[in-house]
Amino acid sequence: MAVTARSGMYETKAWGVVNQPDFINMCVGIETRLTPFQLLDALQAIEIQTGRRKSYKWGPREVDLDILFCGERVIDEERLKIPHPYAHLRGFVLEPLAEIAPEFVHPVIGQTIEHLLRSLQTPA
Ligand code: ATP
Ligand code: CA
Ligand code: CA
Repeated sequence: MAVTARSGMYETKAWGVVNQPDFINMCVGIETRLTPFQLLDALQAIEIQTGRRKSYKWGPREVDLDILFCGERVIDEERLKIPHPYAHLRGFVLEPLAEIAPEFVHPVIGQTIEHLLRSLQTPA
């Protein structure tokens, strides 16, 4: 697995459940021969090794590794949803992502990351 792009780190207010410490978010691009499900297994193993303990939904955690996109692929299963169902709604995802993949087109919504980020900042 090779890291091909890496955004800066962004400290942001918690999303969803707001009365908790700030989060640090970043996005990376990777190239891998793993299938999306194998990649999820690998990321979850890293989360456990890094000491992630069970927390409540959207609560504080040591590390959270989510798969946002996998090219054009769309997967809609309980254990793995790609694109990540909230990616286009979260500034803390779109901002770092726009640094490394501004022209990437969301395969379901059909708009670029840059466009999605701008629509978030200027709601209709
Ligand atoms: P959110 O999905 O809203 O960011 P979360 O990251 O806090 O929430 P977790 O508790 O880390 O949620 O993960 C719950 C489950 O989500 C995982 O066990 C995993 O099977 C599933 N999941 C579904 N789609 C994805 C994805 N694209 N990336 C990572 N996990 C996913
Ligand atoms: Ca998450
Ligand atoms: Ca997660």
